[in-house]
Amino acid sequence: MSSTVVNSPLRRVAVAGGTHGNEMSGIYLVRHWMQDPTELHRGTVTASPFLANPRAVEKCVRYIDQDLNRSFTEEILASTDSDHDAHEVRHARQINQQYGPRGSVNAWDFVIDLHNTTANMGSTIIIMTPEDHLSMHLSHYLQSRCEDSSSPCRVIMVKEMIRDPISLITVGKHGIGLEVGPQPQGVVKADILTRMRTLVNCSLDFMDLFNQGAEFPAFEMEAFGVLERVDYPRNAAGEPQAVIHSKLQDKDFLPVNPGDPLFLMLNGEEILYDGESTIYPSFINEAAYYEKNVAFIKLQRLVFSVPAIRVKN
Ligand SMILES: [Zn+2]
Repeated sequence: MSSTVVNSPLRRVAVAGGTHGNEMSGIYLVRHWMQDPTELHRGTVTASPFLANPRAVEKCVRYIDQDLNRSFTEEILASTDSDHDAHEVRHARQINQQYGPRGSVNAWDFVIDLHNTTANMGSTIIIMTPEDHLSMHLSHYLQSRCEDSSSPCRVIMVKEMIRDPISLITVGKHGIGLEVGPQPQGVVKADILTRMRTLVNCSLDFMDLFNQGAEFPAFEMEAFGVLERVDYPRNAAGEPQAVIHSKLQDKDFLPVNPGDPLFLMLNGEEILYDGESTIYPSFINEAAYYEKNVAFIKLQRLVFSVPAIRVKN
């Protein structure tokens, strides 16, 4: 039996919305909380809401010059501002100064980053590394409190980011991204917003319990590991020659086996999955990924053993 991991109490907690300026649920919630933060108060912790990319939010675009949530690289954070910097490069450094600096003792204890996806992904929790036991426990807690058959709560483990961190949540000591969907870009839907709101509130309940000294026992958790990004079939000029197959559309996290359809070519042909093992696609037909040449992200099912955790006295 593994021993209990102890962790400092969670005092400085940030909730970011508008990291992508056209993902509206998080933007609406954070704007509301900035006016009235009462909902974010707990006995032992109060979360601070902030709009991560206000200029992009104002224009209702994903970003101004480049994707903010790909801009938290070592190289960008370590260099100083210059006149030629992209808007998001400069802004990533500011966020790192305010809520980090990443990897330092001054970094905030926890960062929750609110995103919407156009894919049918229900409530998806993004965790950077299984070594972040606190985020694993938080996800487990969210699964037990917020999951129902109409909105499953799944975890994606983005392990490669340990070596090459790029996203906003890596600024804090711990962090999760929430991807709630499906919701179109630039549109806010009540059911999606409410689900996101519940996830944030449950997260703060968990942090409060943790700070109060509750011990969270060891458990095993299923999570989806990232295998690779899959592009659309293209012609020599780089133009897409196919669309997501109707039998794959909206089937995020469901198994795809060899021979199952992936794409419908514009000439009417079907492209079938020709791999050897079962995969689990996610971000299927995500609108924001057309520019990134990603049709879907291939996942595998993994199981993690998570040790018990409690607050350091
Ligand atoms: Zn996003």
